[in-house]
Amino acid sequence: MRFFKFFFFLALFFPSSLFAQSSPPLRIVATFSVLQDMIQQIAPDASVGTIVPPNADPHAYSPTPSDVKKLAHADLVFVNGLGFEGWIDRLIQASGFKGTIIIASKTVQPRTLLDHKTGASTVDPHAWHDVKNAIKYVQEITIALKEREPAHAQIYQNRSVSYIKDLQQLDQWVQEQFKDIPLDQRLVVTTHDAFWYFGAAYGISFLSPVGISTEAQPSPKDILTLINQIRRDHIQAIFIENLSNHKALQQIAEEAGVTIGGTLFADSLSDKDGPATTYIQMIQYNVLTIRERLKE
Ligand code: ZN
Repeated sequence: MRFFKFFFFLALFFPSSLFAQSSPPLRIVATFSVLQDMIQQIAPDASVGTIVPPNADPHAYSPTPSDVKKLAHADLVFVNGLGFEGWIDRLIQASGFKGTIIIASKTVQPRTLLDHKTGASTVDPHAWHDVKNAIKYVQEITIALKEREPAHAQIYQNRSVSYIKDLQQLDQWVQEQFKDIPLDQRLVVTTHDAFWYFGAAYGISFLSPVGISTEAQPSPKDILTLINQIRRDHIQAIFIENLSNHKALQQIAEEAGVTIGGTLFADSLSDKDGPATTYIQMIQYNVLTIRERLKE
């Protein structure tokens, strides 16, 4: 009897702690750290893992046996889509995961590149660098979480509304950061072609020695063309990325006589000690780093 009294007391004063015990936190897996952060913002109580760790290159990633395990135990799996995770289908098959796979970029208008020589078209996956696209990602994430846990739909909705407000402010802030820099001076060189969506949204032209994947090797002709353009247009804003391979870019900067202006975060967040542990921080850091060099 005493036990029931105690239970009644608990239920009266700590109802949420009892509910929390009855439904274990959702196990969510995202393919890369940028997406992991967006999901964690809407579902802070869920266990949200990432396959590609911070500071690693998703293009060149090789899944490990522990990734197979992570997917096998997941409730929901979130991917960027647009061909970004070339390794995901094999990984899902190996894990036996039969649950829902959510494509975060589902409602984004993708950029398609046409190879004039082969006639083949490729899709540029780096849509998250336009903050308006990030808002679309968050909307997809919210729909999926509400469907998976209808009992918590209102909580997810409230967090989503508040996070989207922050993202709208971020988008506005980015627009303002480049206003005083003339359009023809907004030229930036980076390791690989990851910033087209960013450039299209905020009026900056990005150049790189390789295309949309870090796995391609630039040809000597591509390198020479870029060196000549850097010299001709007096481009000072040259950045490496927090990815593995930036030898080609260092060579280009050296040949053109320009020092590297710092590191941009392209396809992964920084680790916990770095300056870009969240999506919002990543955008802020990239913008301030680019702006500093363009203002010189
Ligand atoms: Zn990339």
